[in-house]
Amino acid sequence: MYWNKEFETMPWQEIQNYWLSKLPSYLEYLKNKSPFYEKRLSSIASKDIKTMDDLKKIPFLTKNELRDAQADSDRKNPLGKIQVVDTEDIVQVISSSGTSGRPVYYGATQKDVEVWRDAIANVYYTAGVRKDDIVAHTTGIPLFAGGAAYFEAIRNIGAMTVWPGNLSTSRMLETIRNLHCNVIQATVSFNLYLAERCQDALGVDPRELGITNIIGGGEPGLGEEAIRQKLKDAWNAKTVREIMGLADVMPGMWGECEAETGMHFNVQKYVMVELIDSESEEHLPWETGVVGELIYTNFSREATPILRYRSADLVRVEGISCSCGRTSPKIRCIGRADDLLIFKAMNVYPSAIRDVVLKHFEKYLTGQLQVVKDHPEQVRFDNAIPVDIEILPEHEQANLKQQIEKVVRDTLNIRIDANLVPPNTIQRTQYKSPLIRVRENNNK
Ligand SMILES: [Zn+2]
Repeated sequence: MYWNKEFETMPWQEIQNYWLSKLPSYLEYLKNKSPFYEKRLSSIASKDIKTMDDLKKIPFLTKNELRDAQADSDRKNPLGKIQVVDTEDIVQVISSSGTSGRPVYYGATQKDVEVWRDAIANVYYTAGVRKDDIVAHTTGIPLFAGGAAYFEAIRNIGAMTVWPGNLSTSRMLETIRNLHCNVIQATVSFNLYLAERCQDALGVDPRELGITNIIGGGEPGLGEEAIRQKLKDAWNAKTVREIMGLADVMPGMWGECEAETGMHFNVQKYVMVELIDSESEEHLPWETGVVGELIYTNFSREATPILRYRSADLVRVEGISCSCGRTSPKIRCIGRADDLLIFKAMNVYPSAIRDVVLKHFEKYLTGQLQVVKDHPEQVRFDNAIPVDIEILPEHEQANLKQQIEKVVRDTLNIRIDANLVPPNTIQRTQYKSPLIRVRENNNK
């Protein structure tokens, strides 16, 4: 039932004690190995970190700080100041997707790779992958977190792992058919796109391919019932499971179990997670309904460590006990702290707009929509927020635009300007289809 029974069923309080027992020696490791961390931790005595409350003494680390620390790199230290081992000990590099600014690169030692293999396998095992599965792993870009690290994790479970990599969509679908894959691992938007293209590419209804399990992540979406149902229907699949991880910390960390009511934390053995209030920066309790930002410490990583990393991922705790017996909290990601939009005085996340629109109008839509900004830094909107929404041609009807705008206004207290567009207007990518785009003539 479990990949790692001991950790997956240990009471959450004991897990926190386990983390606290690991931290002092890790802090010493960083102080001794890294001038960057030695400076950041100079006022902290490692032995004084005894309670979760003591963690507040350790400063948060942000993506921008990591990016700056890496800017100063050379042949000797290609990963800049965040590299704390010799280059000869680094065997692999992954990068964040770099949707905003220069990507940050992270290294892995041989031991780090072993940790990924075990930890991420735990995530896929929770998401239902077993030895007898034939898994299509569709990420095309080995450098990204969801590339080689996912491949090795699925292979570690012993499933027959099929990685078509950078093949065209048609060739990928052909591979899935020829090899009788029953599991598809893909980002939400790419998975929808594969199903859309199947009839044209193979002359086959995707529901006839024998796909039983859909696993997806990499972007919010699978937490929304309408999108889950759309994917399930598109492939006639039995299960839809969400997974989540970060290149910055660990490519896979959260996985959804058979209860299908949120993602469990699956890498307790290697990563510490905290829940905080983004504004007060105080800890929040792991209780059902609480919304907060995830903070990660990867206390096992050798090459490019992460200490109290602010993920900017906002999550809602969906439950703290589960019929599957796992003891870690279940969450859904509800948006990115840095995706926040402000309409007049109201705060709203693009994912909330998508949630509402899909919930009420799913049968008229392809599932793709995008908030349109005038420039990359735009947060405030004084006029209705422009949103491109793809409409299925057979469902065009009068007043749909007005109906959508009204439901959003009534539900979220914000105004949108719904721009109804034909299918495939919003650009699909193999990795992520962002919920926000910048108007082209203003794109810097
Ligand atoms: Zn569960």
